Amino acid sequence: MHLTDTKFVDLALHRAEADAAAHVERCQACKVELERWVRVVTELQELERAALDEAEVHRLSSLFTAYGPTRNQVGGWLATLLRSSAAPATAGVRGRSANELREYQAGPHVILVQLADNGRQGWTVHGQVLAGEAPLGGEGDLVITDAKGHGTTASIDSDGEFHCAGLPSGRYTATWWIGSTRIDEPELMLGDGV
Ligand SMILES: [Zn+2]
Repeated sequence: MHLTDTKFVDLALHRAEADAAAHVERCQACKVELERWVRVVTELQELERAALDEAEVHRLSSLFTAYGPTRNQVGGWLATLLRSSAAPATAGVRGRSANELREYQAGPHVILVQLADNGRQGWTVHGQVLAGEAPLGGEGDLVITDAKGHGTTASIDSDGEFHCAGLPSGRYTATWWIGSTRIDEPELMLGDGV
């Protein structure tokens, strides 16, 4: 039987039991998988200032597994969470508090997202799509859809910046449309999702 995600994380953190290490020695599939996990864990450990606890590492790792660096079904890109960190309230951009900073990879593009909880005024989702290796091709729209299918649309300016405010806590999907580029984040959680 191949190793579980938990075992891979343990191995990447050099605290796995001997039998897990022995399995990797003789299983090429798990060896390749482990290399991927080591890259993820290394990325996470490089987060500035943010000391991730074990639960957070596991959460991000499972997100990575679920939404790996791959194209979505319509020829766009799936946003893969590269890193996430809690931000101090004073680290706001343009005077906003930032509760969480996220960095996604989406094919050749990078998306930076700030999630901020403004209490009764709801959450703001603010950020920027960076062109990366391929140009984005102008302005676009960000559509954030709640569990009932209600969408909120925000424009993406020519710098790739977007800002969406007043979202209640919950589970959302997000889609960035820019020119002919589509990027999906199938699970955008604001708060604990309830
Ligand atoms: Zn195996």
